[in-house]
Amino acid sequence: MMPDYKLIRSKRTTLSVEVDASGHVLVRAPRRMPLFMIEAFLSRRSEWIRNAAEKQRKKAAAAVRVSEKDIDRLRTQAKEILPGRIAFFAGRMGLEPPPFRVTSARTRYGSCSAKNSLSFSLFLMVNSPEAIDYVVVHELAHIRNKNHGPRFWAEVGSVLPDWKARKKTLVMPVLDTDSSHE
Ligand SMILES: [Zn+2]
Repeated sequence: MMPDYKLIRSKRTTLSVEVDASGHVLVRAPRRMPLFMIEAFLSRRSEWIRNAAEKQRKKAAAAVRVSEKDIDRLRTQAKEILPGRIAFFAGRMGLEPPPFRVTSARTRYGSCSAKNSLSFSLFLMVNSPEAIDYVVVHELAHIRNKNHGPRFWAEVGSVLPDWKARKKTLVMPVLDTDSSHE
């Protein structure tokens, strides 16, 4: 069976097919290529397309999605919520609350610089308060331990004995982009 697809014709000279993040099939074709050639190409690749679309749909269904509009809201939330959590846990760990900033990092939830200034991704805020607290404690523990050695984890564990369960729930949201528009 021919999959549903969106045909985009342009000045290109070759055919290509891709499945976008929401599972839609996009076919790019030269302007004058006859439809039967395009459909023959698609039917040769129908198995691959079905598998790719299914994989993307599953991924999309499981993912937390945020739009460009949510970013300001998440940044504001981070600035409101994090100072209190940092002060609270710094107190319990016998530390001065360090300076911190909010970033738009997509590859990590937080970091601790050599000068003990902390950064937190605004995307951390889509997570549960328990998971957010884990990242706060994790970065605070880096003030005394600049690695992930046994002493580091012992300090995290002394503050949050259930840190492993909290860590498991952490998700980085998928950023919705224009490519999913019809
Ligand atoms: Zn770390």
